[in-house]
Amino acid sequence: MDLRLSGELLSFRDEVRTWLRDNVPERPLAPVTTERGFAEHREWERRLAAAGLAAVHWPVEHGGRGLDALSASVFYDEYVRAGAPDRLGRLGLGLVGPTLMEWGTPRQRELLPAMLTCDDIWCQGFSEPDAGSDLASLRTRGEVGTDSIRINGQKVWTSHFRFATWIFALVRTDPEAPKHRGISYVLIPCDTPGVEFRPIRQMNDDAEFAELFLTDVEVPLENVVGGLGNGWKVAMSTLTHERSSNLNTAAHFHRVLRDAVALIPEARRNDSLVRYEVGRFHEEIEAYRFMTLRTLTEVSKGEKPGPQASMGKVWWSELQTRILEFALSMLASEAEVRSGGLPGATNLFKHYWMSRASHIYAGSNEIQRNIIAERVLGLPRSA
Ligand SMILES: Cc1cc2nc3c(=O)[nH]c(=O)nc-3n(C[C@H](O)[C@H](O)[C@H](O)COP(=O)(O)OP(=O)(O)OC[C@H]3O[C@@H](n4cnc5c(N)ncnc54)[C@H](O)[C@@H]3O)c2cc1C
Repeated sequence: MDLRLSGELLSFRDEVRTWLRDNVPERPLAPVTTERGFAEHREWERRLAAAGLAAVHWPVEHGGRGLDALSASVFYDEYVRAGAPDRLGRLGLGLVGPTLMEWGTPRQRELLPAMLTCDDIWCQGFSEPDAGSDLASLRTRGEVGTDSIRINGQKVWTSHFRFATWIFALVRTDPEAPKHRGISYVLIPCDTPGVEFRPIRQMNDDAEFAELFLTDVEVPLENVVGGLGNGWKVAMSTLTHERSSNLNTAAHFHRVLRDAVALIPEARRNDSLVRYEVGRFHEEIEAYRFMTLRTLTEVSKGEKPGPQASMGKVWWSELQTRILEFALSMLASEAEVRSGGLPGATNLFKHYWMSRASHIYAGSNEIQRNIIAERVLGLPRSA
C-alpha cells in the first residue's frame, strides 16, 4: 500500500498552503455569534469561494472544483495546520449541501452556490422535545395541500439559528404510515410567516441553540427533498455526512494535542509518564488517520461511508475528550487560570465541554454503538 500523495495532490497541497499562508487573517476573527464576528467570517468565506477553495470536492457547476474526497482531505489538513478561521456555513457545506447533490431537484440544487459564499446560512430542524435519539417519533405535522405544505410543530436544539436564512426540517406528512415512512424532508425559508426561534439561555450565559416554533408555516411542495414520505432516507444521508465530516481530520486532533500539551508546565511535560501518554495519543491519532484514509479511498471510488461513519464519529469525539481530560488533569487547579488559545475555543474548559457535546450531537455515541453492533458486528437488534 502506498500512502504517499501523488504528484497532482502534492502540487494541489502546495497551492493551498501558499494561498492560506498569504490570506489567513493574522488575528483571530471575532466570535461567530456576534454581528461583527459573523460579518468577518462571511467575508473570509467569500474570499475562500472566490479562490475556488470553499468546497474543492463539490462539482464545478455548484461552485466547487470537482476534485475527489482525497483532495478535500488534503485541503482540510492544510486548513487546520494554517490555523484558518472556523467555517461559517458548516451545515450547508457538510450536511444539506451534499444531501441536495444526492436527492435534490435541479431547482433545489440552485441553492448550493449561496451555501459556499454564505449568502445563505442553514440550520437543522430535526430534534423535537420528544424525538431525539428516536428521531422517527417526530410529531411536527405537515399537511399536504395541492401545491403546498402547511407545517405546525416544535423543534429544539437548533444550532446556528442566529443568522440562518434556511431550515432543513423533518415533518410528518402521513400520520397513518409506519413511523419511518410518513416523514418528509422540507426546505423552509426562515422569513416564512410562522417561523419563530426562541434562544435557549445556557448555564454559561451563551445562547447557542434555539427552540424553533412552526405555526401554520406554508411552503411550496417543490421544497420537499426526495419526494413526499421519503424523508427518512434523505435524513440518513444528511446524518451520514454529518458523522463523517472532513472537518474532523487527524490534523485537527494533532493540533488539539499539540496545543493542549503546550499548556502543561514544562517541568511536568518532561516527566516520562507524561511523555508516554502524549506518545499514545499521537499513535491513536495516526490510527484514526489511517481509518479516515480507508474511508476516503472508498468514497473516492464512489462508495458510501455507511456504518463506518459511526465508527469514526465515536472515535474522534471520544479521543478529543480524552486528550482534553488529560491536559486538564496535568494542569490540575491551574486549569482554572491558564486559558490557552485552543482552536475554536476561548479556553481549555470551554473546549472540553464542547467536546463532551460531540458525544451527543450527530446521533449520540450510544446510538452509534448500537449501529456498529447491529450493522458491522451483526449482533441482534436492541429491544
Ligand atoms: C451541541 C449540540 C448541537 C445540536 N444541534 C442540533 C441542531 O442543530 N438541530 C437538531 O435538530 N438537533 C440538534 N441537537 C440535538 C441532538 O441531535 C440530540 O440531542 C440527540 O439526537 C439526542 O437526543 P436527546 O437530546 O433528545 O436525548 P435522548 O434521545 O433523550 O437520549 C438521552 C440519553 O439516552 C441514550 N439513549 C437513547 N436511546 C438509546 C438507545 N436506544 N440505546 C442506548 N442509549 C440510548 C442517549 O444516547 C442519551 O445518552 C444538538 C445537540 C447538541 C448537543
